[in-house]
Amino acid sequence: MSTSETAKPLEGKLLFPFIAPPNGGKGTQTQILSQRYQMPTFDMGATFRAIMKEGKDPQMKAELESFMSNGKLVPIETVVKVFKKNFEELALQNPHAKGFILDGFPRNKEQANALSQLCREWGAELSKVIYLNVSMEVVKSRAIGRRFCSQNARHVYNIHDPRLAPKQAKQEADGSGVASDAQGREIWICNIDGADLIIRPDDEPQTVEKRLAEYSRETDPLIAYFREQGQLTEINGEQAPDQVTQQIESDIQPLLTLSPTP
Ligand code: AMP
Repeated sequence: MSTSETAKPLEGKLLFPFIAPPNGGKGTQTQILSQRYQMPTFDMGATFRAIMKEGKDPQMKAELESFMSNGKLVPIETVVKVFKKNFEELALQNPHAKGFILDGFPRNKEQANALSQLCREWGAELSKVIYLNVSMEVVKSRAIGRRFCSQNARHVYNIHDPRLAPKQAKQEADGSGVASDAQGREIWICNIDGADLIIRPDDEPQTVEKRLAEYSRETDPLIAYFREQGQLTEINGEQAPDQVTQQIESDIQPLLTLSPTP
């Protein structure tokens, strides 16, 4: 997408960044809203994980691994480079989308400045910033129980979810009880495709602590900044997920002047 074109490539498109602590419910909410309002989501963490899995750029893979496995933010140059390339591709693939959801970007003020600059170049508008406020205690307990399907990372579970109670833990081949991982934690299976559920490395307790410390240090000032600018929509992220969705919708619907898809 060339910025030398006279017409700006994303003129009039709305961007909705979502901010929440790790395990604050961003993934769940962005997935629902993206579907209801036909707004594609750009997910920074997922994009990094895809780059690492692909392994085409060993240097970048090593860099991402070293930061992500320590719960640290990836350096700004890499973040902006990856965002620009991948977001532009997403926008080109979805020329009719009225808006786009940004999951996990920006995460600090430096990134917010970079995003503002890109918005000016693209003609896009940084719309409401949705902030899901969830206490540290709640996000820690969510992280401990979070599991991803080993076949499809979009199948996300929480072992505290009462709806998972009837699921059977995977049986050992000899039928002698439940399977467990190297730390003695029970292994659960995906009730969509039967694959093992795994714990993402950045949900391991030590990494969670580091990610939360990094969040407070980097993202708290960003929240304060958007609040001062009058751009922040603050939502109690500890409510039931459908209540959270309803509150976000009441804020973004008037901007989109669109009806949700049921
Ligand atoms: P997430 O999937 O959003 O929980 O992000 C997983 C990890 O990816 C984070 O702990 C960071 O190491 C990295 N990451 C994701 N988004 C960003 C960002 N905007 N800036 C820097 N690092 C990021």
